[in-house]
Amino acid sequence: MASVTFKNVCKKFGEFVAVNDFNLEIRDKEFLVLLGPSGCGKTTTMRMVAGLEEATFGDIYIDEDRVNGVLPKYRDVAMVFQSYALYPHLTVEDNIGYPLKIRKVPPAECKRRIAEVARRVELDSMLSRLPKELSGGQRQRVALARAIVRTPRVFLMDEPLSNLDAKLRTQMRAELKHLQHELQVTTIYVTHDQIEAMTLAHRVAVMNKGVIEQLGTPREIYNDPRTLFVAGFIGSPPMNLIPGEVRDGVFVSAGLRVGGIGQANVSRAVLGVRPEDVHPTDAGDVDVNLVAPIYSAELTGENTLVSLRLGGQLMTLRADKNFTGQIDQQIGVKVATDRVFLFNGETQDRVD
Ligand code: ATP
Repeated sequence: MASVTFKNVCKKFGEFVAVNDFNLEIRDKEFLVLLGPSGCGKTTTMRMVAGLEEATFGDIYIDEDRVNGVLPKYRDVAMVFQSYALYPHLTVEDNIGYPLKIRKVPPAECKRRIAEVARRVELDSMLSRLPKELSGGQRQRVALARAIVRTPRVFLMDEPLSNLDAKLRTQMRAELKHLQHELQVTTIYVTHDQIEAMTLAHRVAVMNKGVIEQLGTPREIYNDPRTLFVAGFIGSPPMNLIPGEVRDGVFVSAGLRVGGIGQANVSRAVLGVRPEDVHPTDAGDVDVNLVAPIYSAELTGENTLVSLRLGGQLMTLRADKNFTGQIDQQIGVKVATDRVFLFNGETQDRVD
């Protein structure tokens, strides 16, 4: 078991800076998710821990050991790739047992440990199959079993669920969560899927353009986003981000007016409010924040997502499943003023 520490790590590819002055300490037994859009440097960061990329500057430690320059095989990490990277000519049993074989674990002990992990990921009836005879989900489980057949110091998982269909992904997510609870191994998990990040992580590092925008528990990141980028990236459907201005403590944009903002005047402001914190009401109510026509209403089963026209953009709210409003109908909207976030449109930082 181990901690992983990045100290001022920078990775350049030629002149391009993929990871910039990266500082992070991942605690022993922690499940840390690197979350961010494509190209923000997540995979590169993880590959530096594995030893598949070398940092251009800075230091990486696994526990007290500085691992810069240490060959991957001596770092004692296990990596699960998005592509699974199974050996096509080896059976499930031999794929799972590969890390043991190269460490010269005696055959009887190998067999015992393979049987044990295969049972755990429900592959025990498929040990003699080849990867091409498996479904995507089964292959993914082989890759996972190969990683957990021995106990490395650190697990590195690079979008391991991204090739699965939605249903299987949800199922495997729950399995990973359970496994994490049982194995208690320090894990770095890369994803651009914010639901995976929210459900699996102890802490999430939200990355943007090679730097950490915010580090915190899923709850902190969701309830207290510090920048516009984080606010817009976490949450589904995403937070409404409405440009406007604050005048005498009232946020104003197109027909929307929200008081009690806590700032007197901000000329370029962005108001952030999540769809679940915007509530439909009668257009005639005295304290509506907005009256606007319905652009679309989609019943998702559990609730109804309603989009309203607001100036040149749409504002989304989550109404209940019995919402009956029709397209083009004018409705009133109340915003939960204690749940709004105010950002400076220039610096992109929170100002409330
Ligand atoms: P994705 O979610 O698409 O995998 P990511 O956040 O994992 O993205 P990285 O793969 O870490 O992003 O890449 C970060 C940036 O570094 C990208 O702009 C990428 O094009 C660039 N990059 C990565 N590897 C190399 C390389 N070997 N040579 C040049 N540029 C690279």
